[in-house]
Amino acid sequence: MDRLTVSACLWRQVVRVLEEERPGAAAAQNLFAVFKDSVDDGVFCGLATIHDITQHPEWIFADLVEHREFLFITPNCGVRRALKIMDQHGVEALPVFDQRQFIGVVTRQSILEVLLQREHLLLIESRKLKKMLDVEHKQIVSWSEKLAGLHTASRSLLSVLAHTSVESDLLQTGIEALTRLLQARYGAIGIMDEAGGLKHFVYTGISPEQTKSMGQFPQGKGLLGVVIQENVCLRLEDMSKDPRSTGFPADHPPMKSLLAVPISHQGRVYGRLYLSDKEDGEAFCKNDEELAFSFAHSLSLVLDNAREMQEVKKARQSLDYMAHFDALTDLPNRTLLKDRAQQAISHAQRNGSMIGILFLDLDNFKVVNDTIGHTLGDVLLKRVAHRLAECLRDSDTAARLGGDEFIVMLPDLSDVQDAAKVAAKILESLTLPVDIDQHKVFVSVSIGISIYPNNSQNMDGLLADADGAMHHAKKLGKNNYQFFTPEMNSSAQKYMKLEKHLRRALEQNELALYYQPQVDIEMGLIIGVEALIRWFSPELGMVAPLDFIPLAEETGLIMPIGAWVLKTACAQARLWQKNGLPVRVAVNLSSRQFHQVQNHQQSRHPLLDDVLNALEETGLSPHLLELEITEGILMQHLDTTMEILNILKSRGVSLSVDDFGTGYSSLSYLKRFPIDRLKIDKSFVNDITTDPSDKAIIAAITVMAQQLKLEVIAEGVETLAQLEFLRELHCNYVQGYYFSKPLPADEVLLLLQRGRLP
Ligand code: C2E
Ligand code: MG
Ligand code: MG
Repeated sequence: MDRLTVSACLWRQVVRVLEEERPGAAAAQNLFAVFKDSVDDGVFCGLATIHDITQHPEWIFADLVEHREFLFITPNCGVRRALKIMDQHGVEALPVFDQRQFIGVVTRQSILEVLLQREHLLLIESRKLKKMLDVEHKQIVSWSEKLAGLHTASRSLLSVLAHTSVESDLLQTGIEALTRLLQARYGAIGIMDEAGGLKHFVYTGISPEQTKSMGQFPQGKGLLGVVIQENVCLRLEDMSKDPRSTGFPADHPPMKSLLAVPISHQGRVYGRLYLSDKEDGEAFCKNDEELAFSFAHSLSLVLDNAREMQEVKKARQSLDYMAHFDALTDLPNRTLLKDRAQQAISHAQRNGSMIGILFLDLDNFKVVNDTIGHTLGDVLLKRVAHRLAECLRDSDTAARLGGDEFIVMLPDLSDVQDAAKVAAKILESLTLPVDIDQHKVFVSVSIGISIYPNNSQNMDGLLADADGAMHHAKKLGKNNYQFFTPEMNSSAQKYMKLEKHLRRALEQNELALYYQPQVDIEMGLIIGVEALIRWFSPELGMVAPLDFIPLAEETGLIMPIGAWVLKTACAQARLWQKNGLPVRVAVNLSSRQFHQVQNHQQSRHPLLDDVLNALEETGLSPHLLELEITEGILMQHLDTTMEILNILKSRGVSLSVDDFGTGYSSLSYLKRFPIDRLKIDKSFVNDITTDPSDKAIIAAITVMAQQLKLEVIAEGVETLAQLEFLRELHCNYVQGYYFSKPLPADEVLLLLQRGRLP
């Protein structure tokens, strides 16, 4: 309230009078302000009170005020000061002057009345305030009770923040606390698993018997589904009126109002809780929703924390796994292998035992991979890993280094030959084809073996030794095992050197074709020539095809080299043809050329492309080109191989089977292919004069080939005696040093010009 001043306490009953007037009988209640000349604008002379008048009833006002001290105060003077002045001067009233102008009078009584009035107002106001305070106090008390309840419920949840899972009994405590807190009849919490099914479902307010008769838990359809799918709260006075409601299952207790809140954290919904029917029959209010929401939030933190911990655990496990195992085959990787090797070496040192290291590399894996595709190639690796594991004891370790390289470690060997036995067992286990997606894939493996402590003393050295031995096994024709010997080290190094130089051989024109005549012995005529590649390396000297063709196949260099051979041979034959000396040229194909993959831009298989381009570009008649393929290529009998051979055949190109007899193909099998002739391998010809079985084989081949209308050429004929034997067997076409070694083109020209051979 404002400070109380004199102006607010003016005494209303002041009577203005002139000084010459005389107080009458009416003077009893009044106080008189006395003026000279005029009551309105005359000079103020003083105040006359009832007390003055009763003392001197005869006097006029001038007399009554004349002897008085002249006192006055201003309107903004405080009432305390006014009362004090009255006390000091023993008066009951004071005139009030505002800028020398008389405006009224204050009296003790007038001040007292105003003070009483004020006190009354204050009293009313303070009563009002007290009432308001009471209401607020009650609210605060009820809120703090609720908060305490929420706190208890939340605390039971938060106490497990450090745990990695939420247990049902914890949820039970929580929902009971919340339901009690919000005075609801029913409450439930549903937590979902990763697939969206119910992982936990706890409820309160429904008896176990009732639950049994209801049958199943909520399916997450209808309103409760909405809460989860849309991650929103629902607060409904009557849920049956909501169009999204799907109604209750039979035997469900009737429920009306609903408060449902999602349990979610950062957009990830873990489940929902819901309450139904307040005990007082009222609908749930905004405050209830906030409480339930805050409870759900705490719960979501627990769940989120649990999820994160689970993820961390999983990640840690998978990191650990990744660090030690090969993801494709689940075999130990290099790291784990080295670890185990270290232990095995220490063990072997103490016990004086040996360790065998087998280095395995699949043969022609690149070819297989290109043919069946990388996905199936991976499947093949898995199958191989599986077969490998089947050949080993528990104490052995099979590991994958990457690609098609595997390592087998055999700890605690007592005999070096035990390593050979395992190697042989592995080779044997791979002889059966692997069935992959309707392909029958034949795999073989080359194995190099090193032994601790006979070879290197540490794992790196043992691996390098076994690697060298493996390369040696490859060179010896693959599908075998070899022990490491010190010479292999240099041989492995030589191999790498070879590869380096071979990569440049084509660009640097180091390759050449030689041609070896094929002769009809009846007529003494050259019926064809076989193109045989030669590599004149400035660094390595003359390298024989058997020394670099396998390497070219392994590295894929056979593709550009093969294309070059085709083009060069065709160009040469075309030149002879132009010179009036048409002669058929036979070109060797490697299986890798068949297994190239046709990409989207290519309208035909790359090998067909190479052959047909060579013919088109050189203009050579197709019937002057023969392609030599090995039994191995036919054995793989892939649809594409058949298709390519048929197309080539239809174009007029002839086909022969090279090194016939060294593979396992039967003549009846060969019948399916569009083959023109067989080239009997030189190993049979070599011993024809001394080994009756070789003679018998050649005889059989010749007879059967005639029935199948196939020509037969014998390779590697070196002596007259061999020639005579062949003539006897009616094998009239031959190729060999007896007539001519492979020769450069210009020397062949001389032979062709001469026409007949001696
Ligand atoms: P091949 O196709 O069986 O060729 C016959 C091999 O026997 C040739 O060896 C040839 O010089 C040799 N030879 C011929 N007559 C006699 C003989 O009377 N006695 C003996 N001991 N050997 C004889 P070369 O030229 O060293 O070729 C070896 C192999 O390299 C070939 O065997 C063939 O498989 C492969 N090759 C050669 N040139 C090519 C080529 O251009 N592409 C492909 N993919 N492979 C080729
Ligand atoms: Mg050949
Ligand atoms: Mg041959």
